[in-house]
Amino acid sequence: MSESLLGLSRLALAQRLESWGYKTVHAKPIWQHIHRDGRSDVAAIPGLPAGLAHRVQEELPVVWPTIALETRSSDGFTRKFLLTLADGRQVETVLMRYDGRVTACVSTQAGCAMGCIFCATGQMGFARHLSTAEIVGQVLAVSIGDHERTKHHAPSTEHQHPAQSTQHPARNVVLMGMGEPLHNYAAVMAATEILADTAGFGLSPRRITLSTVGVVPGIRRLAAERRPISLAVSLHAATQAGRLALLPPAAKAWPLDELMDACCEYSAALDRHIFFEWTLIAGENDRPDDAHALGRLLSTQRAHVNLIPLNPTDGYAGAPTAPKAARVFQDVLTTYGIPSTVRQRRGIDIASGCGQLAARS
Ligand code: SAH
Ligand code: SF4
Repeated sequence: MSESLLGLSRLALAQRLESWGYKTVHAKPIWQHIHRDGRSDVAAIPGLPAGLAHRVQEELPVVWPTIALETRSSDGFTRKFLLTLADGRQVETVLMRYDGRVTACVSTQAGCAMGCIFCATGQMGFARHLSTAEIVGQVLAVSIGDHERTKHHAPSTEHQHPAQSTQHPARNVVLMGMGEPLHNYAAVMAATEILADTAGFGLSPRRITLSTVGVVPGIRRLAAERRPISLAVSLHAATQAGRLALLPPAAKAWPLDELMDACCEYSAALDRHIFFEWTLIAGENDRPDDAHALGRLLSTQRAHVNLIPLNPTDGYAGAPTAPKAARVFQDVLTTYGIPSTVRQRRGIDIASGCGQLAARS
């Protein structure tokens, strides 16, 4: 696969220009054109020295994932995009809109090696890691909006990505699509840095949320490197045996007590709370006793719990918890002083809910 400009940081781009004998000042207009304005036609950038645009196009092509299919949910708030990557492999990216806030849910791998039993991505197995350019490309492809573009350009549509005509820029990115982001650490971190660059897409790092199944070395590394992004940890069970039943490979590799230690270390290093995710499965992990166990487990953590009623997948027969039982679960957590939210179910009719993403090729 050829290298794409989308995978380079602004500094790396400047260094590349220098190595080609051009001044580093040309990096900024190229960068803004791509990451701020969402355009791929490098030849249209004014003021570049002769030959530079051509060289960029030859050696660092701006490769966007192409939109093979866009499905809109009947709720009117959710769109799912099936994106085709340069090698033909496909991943899914979801755009959600709540109260004027647009959030892109982005994939970090094609498939996933973690094998959580209730997750469609886990059920399909691992195909490959996504590159930094592919992670950044998903956000740009689905989210750069009309007004962003028309602010800076005449409304020519020749080189604009088809998604741009009707989209609005995401101001939140959740790394909660297909894959385990901490299993693809370097590529994912480089993508978060590119998306947060204020001369480009300019996301606030706190509005980038990484969700992990509990990859302990990755959590420790986030803490050691003081990564400014937000962290969500998928728990689903408050005992090692419970986690082994639902997330067998991950729970075996990183036992619950080690995971909790790593979370404490992270919160202390970054002075942050952690979102703990809990997929509510009827009769499996949604009884008041489960909520008490979770309350006790999180007593030493700075925690916010996100409860996600199970979304259906082909490979798992469980049912979602009913709203009333979810409220009882929340009430128990409240007695431990733990704030919680029941995640709104969105996009279920188009299989774009948590854990439902599974492109087939
Ligand atoms: N691999 C990461 C991020 C992707 S999954 C992780 O596991 O955290 C994003 C979230 O969706 C996780 O909390 C995951 O447990 C949850 N999830 C997976 N399958 C689900 C399903 N069928 N219904 C509801 N939530 C699910
Ligand atoms: Fe992978 Fe997350 Fe799905 Fe588990 S829940 S299989 S870690 S994507």
